[in-house]
Amino acid sequence: MKYCLDCDWSLNAVDEPSRGDRSRAAIEHHVETGHTIDSSESTVRPTTPGVAGPVFVRELLPSRD
Ligand SMILES: [Zn+2]
Repeated sequence: MKYCLDCDWSLNAVDEPSRGDRSRAAIEHHVETGHTIDSSESTVRPTTPGVAGPVFVRELLPSRD
């Protein structure tokens, strides 16, 4: 699945069977929001984010608040 590290956006094979369309949708979400998209082979969102990488990226992005 593809999922967003910054909000609840996610897309799995049930929602969108086409791998290509999932990638396209993830890119569109990133372009529109500036959010960081990650992917996982599992069908559920990992409960713990990866190492410091995503947090570091997030701090470089402008706040949307
Ligand atoms: Zn997002």
